[in-house]
Amino acid sequence: MEEKNITNKVAIVTGGSRGIGAEIVKTLEKTGYSVVLNYNKSKEIAGSIAKEYQNVYTYQADVSEPNSVKELFDYVYHDFGRIDLLVNNAGIDLIKTINDTTYEEFDKIMKTNLYSAFCASKEASKYMINQKNGQIINISSIWGVVGASCEVAYAISKAGMDAMTKSLAKELGPSNIRVNSIAPGIIDTDMNNNLSEDEKKAIIEEIPLERIGTTSDIAECVLFLEKNKYITGQIIQVNGGWNI
Ligand code: NAP
Repeated sequence: MEEKNITNKVAIVTGGSRGIGAEIVKTLEKTGYSVVLNYNKSKEIAGSIAKEYQNVYTYQADVSEPNSVKELFDYVYHDFGRIDLLVNNAGIDLIKTINDTTYEEFDKIMKTNLYSAFCASKEASKYMINQKNGQIINISSIWGVVGASCEVAYAISKAGMDAMTKSLAKELGPSNIRVNSIAPGIIDTDMNNNLSEDEKKAIIEEIPLERIGTTSDIAECVLFLEKNKYITGQIIQVNGGWNI
């Protein structure tokens, strides 16, 4: 692999091929970052984003596998020489009662949503501690904050991310590394394709701002956190007021 001549700050976005992650990738690139877009299955979509955005570089890795996460970070450090921002965004959901949730499904949710973020944060923090600078943003969920009926595994994984956010903010703050969560409410992405129009309408009725969120609502919050140098250890809820 050739070392790239990078002068920009470098961000890694896990699960950057679709939905919220893809919007974060594009937004960071537009603000001057070189962005490593990690994807798992959506090779074509990832490639088309990289084609359109000059400073986006794709890397395939299943982040639920620690060895793949390590390879991703080895690639980034080797080719880019720095890591300024990690966005732990890759995630899957599971809508099932606790009785219907198998141990294998529980493991898969934990490995994809939480273990991946732990491994990526472990790898990133090595570099960030040396740099004495860096930032980690975890995309968690409203369900990690308030709990979710029939999404117990998902909610546990997201609450775990928020606990990691607060713990790492304390541990890494002295190294000038900020760690925050963004906990979205309902956002218009493929993840909610299972909802019928009537179900969406019912949800909107519960949201004070009377709409489903957009991927830009989340990407703008990433930019806000990226800019503000005195926020760490916070769970920023971007949900239209759904949980108040
Ligand atoms: P999405 O549209 O389903 O996209 C999920 C992304 O995660 C895809 O880019 C996918 O990549 C990637 N991914 C999944 N498993 C992966 C793995 N093992 N390794 C690497 N990448 C993987 O979902 P989304 O709505 O944008 O969700 C993004 C994050 O926001 C998730 O963590 C989700 O829990 C959270 N969130 C979403 C909502 C919502 O309402 N949409 C609400 C709260 C929180 P490939 O396609 O390449 O496999």
